[in-house]
Amino acid sequence: MMATQLLDGKIVAEKFLQELRPRLDRPGRPPCVAFLRVGEEASSQFYVARKRAVAESLGIRSLLAHLDRDAAPEIILSQLERWNGDDSIDGILVQAPLPNRQLQELAFAAVDSAKDVDGFHPHNFGLLALDRSDGFVPCTALGILHLLRAYGVELEGRHVAIVGRSTIVGRPLALLLQSRSVNATVSVCHSKSGDLARSLCRSADVVVVAAGSAHLVGPSWIRKGAIVVDVGQTAVTGPDGCRRPVGDVDFAAVAPLCQAITPVPGGVGPMTVAMLMGNVVRAWELARWNGN
Ligand code: NAD
Repeated sequence: MMATQLLDGKIVAEKFLQELRPRLDRPGRPPCVAFLRVGEEASSQFYVARKRAVAESLGIRSLLAHLDRDAAPEIILSQLERWNGDDSIDGILVQAPLPNRQLQELAFAAVDSAKDVDGFHPHNFGLLALDRSDGFVPCTALGILHLLRAYGVELEGRHVAIVGRSTIVGRPLALLLQSRSVNATVSVCHSKSGDLARSLCRSADVVVVAAGSAHLVGPSWIRKGAIVVDVGQTAVTGPDGCRRPVGDVDFAAVAPLCQAITPVPGGVGPMTVAMLMGNVVRAWELARWNGN
């Protein structure tokens, strides 16, 4: 029996970042990315710190504005307006989730689309939906595609089932994978799909789970020889009292069935951060060097 291949996001992300370095070797100021964090979510605090540390390791400058959970929409919008008008800032990232959905949509749409390195502005989302390659693509979707390609996973003509339809992960991933440059056939399931979710996953060649529900997917969801990508990260307290990220897939039970599977942590997470760095460098190149 063939051993299960681990899709190691740490190794692939590191290689991607190494390949990005020569593009940063230009005279003048380095790229700069600005982060906006609202409220006290521990996970948001962790993700922004991680993204800033990786930026710093590449010589990319970063700024952070942290606003109170109760900050008025006008305060958030005026901060983004200032950054939009500041030529020394190439990329802007509003760390999701914001305290409510309307505010999050308002903030995403207020970022200058040319600085929208997370790809959540309606303009960039629309370009992705129109199968155009000139916008910014959301980092987790891009990271999953890059990881699968790095391991030579063929997607053209194959059935990919995605569990989760969020605008952050599931929806942009579905658009990207069915684009003419990838040509997968995509099924998207969500919390109202009921038993269909499990049966669609069972018939898929590749299953991507982004539900935010620890260990939702067990062996009955996966056919033998499938490829499984686990996006989920839920902090769970272990028997030792420590909080650890747990995936949406029951790794121990599912891995023996799979051709390949991502670990949590160390799978999709590092890829998301690496793709963000790629988008920041691209925004900087477009603004400062006309993309050359
Ligand atoms: P979300 O809560 O916005 O969306 C979850 C989606 O899953 C929804 O569409 C919901 O309908 C669906 N869903 C929930 N339970 C389901 C079920 N039982 N069956 C079928 N569908 C179900 O979450 P999100 O922002 O998309 O994030 C999903 C997970 O991915 C979270 O754990 C999050 O922390 C993680 N995440 C990881 C990264 C990374 O880089 N590793 C990036 C973004 C999000």
